[in-house]
Amino acid sequence: MLIDTYGRVATDLRVSLTDRCNLRCTYCMPEEGLQWLGKPDLLTDDEIVRLIDIAVTRLGITEVRFTGGEPLLRPGIVGIVDRVARLAPRPQMSLTTNGIGLKRTAASLKAAGLDRVNVSLDTLRPDVFKALTRRDRLADVLAGLAAARAADLTPVKVNTVLMPGLNGDEAPDLLAWAIDGGYELRFIEQMPLDAQHGWKRDGMITAGDILASLRTRFTLTPEGAASRGSAPAERWIVDGGPHRVGVIASVTRPFCAACDRTRLTADGQVRTCLFAREETDLRAALRGDASDEAIARTWKLAMWGKKAGSGLDDPSFLQPDRPMSAIGG
Ligand code: SAM
Ligand code: SF4
Repeated sequence: MLIDTYGRVATDLRVSLTDRCNLRCTYCMPEEGLQWLGKPDLLTDDEIVRLIDIAVTRLGITEVRFTGGEPLLRPGIVGIVDRVARLAPRPQMSLTTNGIGLKRTAASLKAAGLDRVNVSLDTLRPDVFKALTRRDRLADVLAGLAAARAADLTPVKVNTVLMPGLNGDEAPDLLAWAIDGGYELRFIEQMPLDAQHGWKRDGMITAGDILASLRTRFTLTPEGAASRGSAPAERWIVDGGPHRVGVIASVTRPFCAACDRTRLTADGQVRTCLFAREETDLRAALRGDASDEAIARTWKLAMWGKKAGSGLDDPSFLQPDRPMSAIGG
C-alpha cells in the first residue's frame, strides 16, 4: 500500500501523459506556452504502462486518471488505455481533458476501456472563451462533450474555474446548461499553480462566492459529508434533486486530511501532492533496469514522506517550481 505517516492511503493515481497543450488558459499557462519536455525526457508508452502495472498490482491503486497538459495530444493514448484495461485487477480509468480532441477519440477511448471523462469548460460565451483560453475553440469543446456523452463516457463531469472580470458571473448559467445537457458541474477554486505566478488570494473567486452566486437562481442543499468520502468536491443537491453541483475548494476548504492521491509526471517523477516541492525519479529507476519490486519500494518511500497539507495557509508557502500543466492537474 502507498501509506503515509499520517495514515492516509493513496489509491488514486494521476498520470500526466504530456505537458503540452493546445489551449493557453490564463490561470494555467502564459500566451507563448512553456518550455516543453523533450521526447527523450518523456516516458514512453511502455514505461507508462509498466509503472501503472506496478501501481495496480503491487501498490493498491484502484483508480487511474490520465491528465496533462492536454492528454489527447498524446498519440498513444488509446493504446495506453487499452493495455491498462487488461491489467488485473482492472483499475477504474478516467481522463481529464479540455475536450477539443474528444469528438475524434471518444468512441475509441470507450472501446479501449475508458470509464469516464472530466471536461474542463469555463464559459459558454465564445468571446470569453477566446479571452480565457486564448484560442477560438468553444464549438470544438461543446462537440467533444456531446461526443463523450454519446460514447457513454459517463457521468461526464465538467470542471470550471471562475475568474473575476471574465466568467465570474457565469456560475448560474453554467449550472442551468449542465443540468439541461446531463453533465455534472464542479467548480474549482483557482490555485497558485500558474506558470506566470499571477495568483492572488484576494483576487480569487472563493467557494463562498460561487455558492452565493448559484443561490441567486437555485436552491442548494448540502449532500452531507458521508457521501463525500475522499472526493475533493463538496456536493449540493440542486432544487431538491436529482441534479448535483460540486465545489472543489482547495484554497478555502482544503481536503488534505482525506487525500488519497499519488501523481506521476510525464517525465516519470512521483509527486505526493500538487503543491509538493520534491519529486522522486522513477524514470531513472526504470531506465536503470530496476526490478518492479525495487520501483514499488521507491514509490512507497516517496509517499511515506507526503506532507500533512498543501501549506497554502502557511506564511512561508512557496509555489511549486512546476506549473499545473507540467505536474498534471
Ligand atoms: N488540459 C486538461 C484540462 O484542461 O482539463 C487537463 C490538464 S488541466 C491542468 C486539469 C485541470 O486543472 C483543469 O480542469 C483546469 O481547469 C485545472 N486548472 C489548471 N490550472 C489551474 C489553477 N491555477 N487553479 C485551479 N485549477 C486549475
Ligand atoms: Fe491546457 Fe488544461 Fe492548462 Fe487549459 S488548464 S492551458 S487546457 S493544460
